[in-house]
Amino acid sequence: MKRIVVLGAGYAGMRTVKKLTGMNVDAQIVLINKNPYHYQTTELHEVAAGTKEPADITFDIANTFAKKKNVQVLIDEVIRVDQNAKSIVLKNNAPIRYDYLVNALGFESETFGIPGASENGWPLIDIDTAMAARAHLENTLKRYKRSRDPNDLRIIVCGAGFTSIEYLGEIVYRMPKLAKKYGFPRNQVKIDCIEAGPKILGMFNQNLAQWAVRYLEKRGVTFHVSTPITEVRPNSVMSNDQEFPANTIIWTTGVHGSHVIADSGYEQKRNRVVVADDLRVAGQPDQFLIGDVSGVPNPENGRLYPTTAQISIAQADCVAENLVALMNGQPTKKFVFKALGTVCSLGPKAGIASIDMFGHWSLKGWIASVAKKFIADRAVLELGNIRTMLESD
Ligand SMILES: Cc1cc2nc3c(=O)[nH]c(=O)nc-3n(C[C@H](O)[C@H](O)[C@H](O)COP(=O)(O)OP(=O)(O)OC[C@H]3O[C@@H](n4cnc5c(N)ncnc54)[C@H](O)[C@@H]3O)c2cc1C
Repeated sequence: MKRIVVLGAGYAGMRTVKKLTGMNVDAQIVLINKNPYHYQTTELHEVAAGTKEPADITFDIANTFAKKKNVQVLIDEVIRVDQNAKSIVLKNNAPIRYDYLVNALGFESETFGIPGASENGWPLIDIDTAMAARAHLENTLKRYKRSRDPNDLRIIVCGAGFTSIEYLGEIVYRMPKLAKKYGFPRNQVKIDCIEAGPKILGMFNQNLAQWAVRYLEKRGVTFHVSTPITEVRPNSVMSNDQEFPANTIIWTTGVHGSHVIADSGYEQKRNRVVVADDLRVAGQPDQFLIGDVSGVPNPENGRLYPTTAQISIAQADCVAENLVALMNGQPTKKFVFKALGTVCSLGPKAGIASIDMFGHWSLKGWIASVAKKFIADRAVLELGNIRTMLESD
């Protein structure tokens, strides 16, 4: 029996296995992930801000596939892919051979080589980092009662992309509760968002992006655009000669693919491999790369599609079909992607949304947050709760 090895149990890896099991594929499937649980990355900012608990956004991987006899879940860390030997080098177990490989190892925080960013900024990339950022923020706010240090009430969010804005929305929502809990004056909290580029939320039209900016400004956030960060110090962020002091610095400037990509000798840029149109790796007919470790050119403009949960899931569906085709000696199909929309939450009660389904819809305010929570087909929109899509058969 052939062995399909899937690396990473994020949206891309989980969905691939889920889809393959639904197709009754005649192969052994080994899913390798470093944690025993899947976490919904699209909701990490909520855990980091304290509006959700880890248990709300995680579920057990082995349980999900418990009834599937041909699926083995292996909890271990992937060190590298040995492409010549067609095997996976693991931290704790002996190498595992594959006949077919689906590499979906996901993303890591990008620091762009800025001095001090990894030492002094709190990234939001998984449950551990989200919980560490939350503990640091709460301890710092709590300390203010004793310290009276104004920097204990100052927060800097680095970057003004999707993750930064969703985190800001969540944190301004939670701040009154934190002020009550830890006895600090809410009106003395200072939140700065520092962005190198001239725009905030560049993926939305300016009308929607400006609405989100005003929403956050009204709740105490100050935006600094065209302000490139040159250094992150233990208690401040530098932009050339300008210093922004704060005792909490959240690092959400962007992501790159898993370091395993470079360590395995793939031709890559920022640990992302531009894949062929059927999502295989050039020169490696038995290997697919999907999710945040892959780059897929948009045929309309030649630029790579942004990496999102939405495209990861669509890629997984295509790869499952292509694996079955390969095993049956049939031709693979091209991956075609139609982005159906983007929803950015601003806390649990507001948001902005740009949806291309039955026409184009620009939504803002509570209706966008309703869209985020309740739009029926959660699998195809860039939404938070993709658990249903992964768990249902
Ligand atoms: C706060 C936040 C909000 C977001 N919101 C949205 C949104 O609303 N909509 C949207 O479409 N996208 C959103 N995104 C982007 C989206 O989460 C990613 O594009 C998506 O998670 C990529 O899926 P993936 O399966 O490729 O990788 P990941 O989700 O990163 O999963 C990779 C998996 O591999 C595991 N892994 C990593 N390295 C190893 C290793 N060496 N060995 C073993 N296992 C390993 C990880 O533990 C993880 O389980 C958001 C991202 C963040 C951070």
